[in-house]
Amino acid sequence: MSGVGKGVASSSIATLLQARGHNVTAIKIDPYINVDAGTMNPTEHGEVFVLKDGLETDQDMGNYERFLNIDLPAINYMTTGSVYLSVIQKERNLEYKGRNVEVVPDIPLEVIRRIKQAAKEANADVVQVEVGGTVGEYQNVLFLEAIRMMKSDEPENVAVVMVSYLPVPGSIGEMKTKPTQTAVRALNSAGVFADVILCRSPIGVDMKRKEKIAKFCNVKVENVISAPDVDSIYSIPLNYEEDNLSLRLSDVLGLPHKKPIDLKAWKQFVNRSKSASEVVKIAVVGKYFNSGDFVLSDVYLSVLEAIKYSAYKLNLKPEISYLSSHDFADKKKLKELKKYDGVLVPGGFGATGIEGKLNVIEYVRKNKIPYFGICYGMQLAVLEFAQNVLKLKNASTEEIDPKAEHLVIGVMDEQRENVAAGKLGGTMRLGQYLTTLVGGTVAMKAYGKKEILERHRHRYEVNPAYIDALEAKGLHFSGKSPDGKLMEIAELSKLDHPFFVGVQFHPELQARPLDPHPLFTAFIEASYSSK
Ligand code: GLN
Repeated sequence: MSGVGKGVASSSIATLLQARGHNVTAIKIDPYINVDAGTMNPTEHGEVFVLKDGLETDQDMGNYERFLNIDLPAINYMTTGSVYLSVIQKERNLEYKGRNVEVVPDIPLEVIRRIKQAAKEANADVVQVEVGGTVGEYQNVLFLEAIRMMKSDEPENVAVVMVSYLPVPGSIGEMKTKPTQTAVRALNSAGVFADVILCRSPIGVDMKRKEKIAKFCNVKVENVISAPDVDSIYSIPLNYEEDNLSLRLSDVLGLPHKKPIDLKAWKQFVNRSKSASEVVKIAVVGKYFNSGDFVLSDVYLSVLEAIKYSAYKLNLKPEISYLSSHDFADKKKLKELKKYDGVLVPGGFGATGIEGKLNVIEYVRKNKIPYFGICYGMQLAVLEFAQNVLKLKNASTEEIDPKAEHLVIGVMDEQRENVAAGKLGGTMRLGQYLTTLVGGTVAMKAYGKKEILERHRHRYEVNPAYIDALEAKGLHFSGKSPDGKLMEIAELSKLDHPFFVGVQFHPELQARPLDPHPLFTAFIEASYSSK
């Protein structure tokens, strides 16, 4: 079933093989028709993770990058839509040389071509491929067929890992293997046979059940791996290694045992994450948190992880609260923000929840609570400043009120045509761009260098017509595009506020467990010291 942590399981497997000295890259396959993840509502899909080269992908790509501490290229992400699109484009270009192009084998062949291309681009020893969805569902059949074809061509080079869930029904308190047996049969009926079964469960799998699974699912008993629930996803690679997963996989793949596994840095990170006792309280004010009776923190996954890494680096225990911006449309509620050491407004789109966010920003600016605004969170900080300090009452962003008198945030020139023509899929300013920092600023101090590369995902920008007026009243643009035209960072001076920084880019996308992001670290540090 979905939600058993297949993405984290994949990231952990890749991490272990990397720690054995292999060059590992990771691919995610999503079964939907959307060509990329950028056109989906976050409440449906979770976070959109943007790769360095600008592709909008699934949050699992972020997990891989964070666990492996590497940047992944666009070839490493595919959806049913993107695979069909390339096959159809090739057909239109006569690349199939007049032959009949068919769902099978041409779709699986395109999948295999991409897997091999990703291996080549990364010069990888191992490519770890995660197939999204659930065995038995219609949508991922062609991807399973690609796996079957690859394994039948090169059996010694392909290992299949099935992630299964073993429930422990409360009424009987005994772990049940039947759903796994049934799932293995469903997988077998697609012609695919698992080499390793990862048993997700609330508790560890005992030997008796491992033997049962081995017998009924056609795998070696040592290839049945226990994967119980844990309090931190970062303990998972260490857990798998207790069952020798990396050795088991090396054996299936015939990988040389280059050297003993080296998980030193990883273990240090995990220990640090557990040992911190001093608390820092951070409020993330977003609008996509509520889904029926459930809270979806997945939508801001990279932001939450980035906060954690920087807090751990500073030996602090992060307590993150998810606050819905809708609640702060009522100004009486703003007092609640006093409880937090720092407030962060992440990226977003559209008009809903804006009033609450603007109220929050005004409150933290005036009450000197450390503030970190990301993308929309930066644009809204500029807008709030224009409304309340520059007293431009009819200031707005073109995104929500194109007729407003003062469009302090306007559509970027290069985007005007896209917006007018409704060409909205994959056309934002996406991926990595250079920012030049201004000396003597909070941003420059945090980064400790003048030129930085950060990933972007936006269509609007600070309107150049208002820059002088904003600067004159104390909102400084401390980071700009190299040609000086785009405002990438806005901040208040240290003399006016303990930390008030907004960034047009998404620093969270580059925060890594073993390499926390300097701006997040500066924000957490300022939050803790202004307690
Ligand atoms: N909606 C804003 C824009 O398109 C901000 C985007 C974001 O926060 N990712 O510019």
